[in-house]
Amino acid sequence: MTGLVLKDIRKSYGAVDVIHGIDLDIKQGEFIVFVGPSGCGKSTLLRMIAGLEEITAGDMMIDGERVNDVPPSKRGIAMVFQSYALYPHMTVYENMAFGMRIAKEGKDEIDRRVRSAAEMLQLTNYLDRLPKALSGGQRQRVAIGRAICRNPKVFLFDEPLSNLDAALRVATRIEIARLSERMADTTMIYVTHDQVEAMTLADRIVVLSAGHIEQVGAPLELYERPANLFVARFIGSPAMNVLPAKVVMAGQTTTVELKSGTAATLDIATPEAEHDKDVSFGVRPEDLQVTTGPDFLFEGTVAIVEALGEVTLLYIEGLVEGEPIIAKIPGIQAVRRGDKVRLSADRSKLHLFDKDGISYRAL
Ligand code: ADP
Ligand code: MG
Repeated sequence: MTGLVLKDIRKSYGAVDVIHGIDLDIKQGEFIVFVGPSGCGKSTLLRMIAGLEEITAGDMMIDGERVNDVPPSKRGIAMVFQSYALYPHMTVYENMAFGMRIAKEGKDEIDRRVRSAAEMLQLTNYLDRLPKALSGGQRQRVAIGRAICRNPKVFLFDEPLSNLDAALRVATRIEIARLSERMADTTMIYVTHDQVEAMTLADRIVVLSAGHIEQVGAPLELYERPANLFVARFIGSPAMNVLPAKVVMAGQTTTVELKSGTAATLDIATPEAEHDKDVSFGVRPEDLQVTTGPDFLFEGTVAIVEALGEVTLLYIEGLVEGEPIIAKIPGIQAVRRGDKVRLSADRSKLHLFDKDGISYRAL
């Protein structure tokens, strides 16, 4: 069986443990995205897969072979970094061909691979240019092309778009999505802290925090059924509203009382023993609607209105200590600062977590 298997992978720098035991099965051809806050270990994990970082403990298997002690050049892996590091005095063509020349590939084979990669990345018209005559996005595509020319089994990306401005990021992201379709048999592992990149590129997202996996799943699975509060808050923007609550009726459906005073019934089952327990109630900003009816979750005064055109963000302060409740309402709204609003949500969109932050949905 081809693919990549990580078994209880650990990394320590001296006495400091940074990766605490990662288990992960990656199928050949899958597009896996690692997300997580800065410093959680994404780059370290990627560098261990590449062979650029020693593995402290555990087994790293590629195509069924243990590669812990296999040097980077023998792992069939290519890596693209945040900084593209092209040779400034070489043309695009030469930059892409360079690795193959070192590896003593034949002239025709080099030419075939460079042209095929250039075509995939829409660089054919730029092959004779020097890097300084390219935009940031084009330079990064050359770096990707250089990696493609190595015919990798596994393609690793470490935040490849974070040096690009917003428009180029979008264009290059779409280029990468296209590329992964054309290289359907090549496994891709992509590190980012950009939600949109994660949601749009991944077959499966691995959410990391502090050196361990919080959840692995398809993008919408993580969005709709986050396993815990960390994932619930990490996936989705603005983040899910989370409020303290108490279970007033456990059972097939669960009724909770929010600290703000209102009650809510959720289509989520909780065991009888949860009666009276403190829990966390969650609702995403985009699942809230403004209502005038008697059934509402929150009633409060709008402190801030952010009109973005496509959506309007309403910040309601004073319902929970510290954080405002945020509602994301489609389109342009007539709501003003100081208005009193009521917000409701479809009960199927509500989330509930126990005192340890574990979702009851996963029960
Ligand atoms: P990310 O890519 O998710 O932002 P990193 O993998 O770069 O995070 O870093 C993970 C943790 O390991 C961080 O706490 C970082 O400080 C630590 N770390 C990374 N490299 C070293 C090193 N060479 N020596 C000691 N600690 C390191
Ligand atoms: Mg990093």
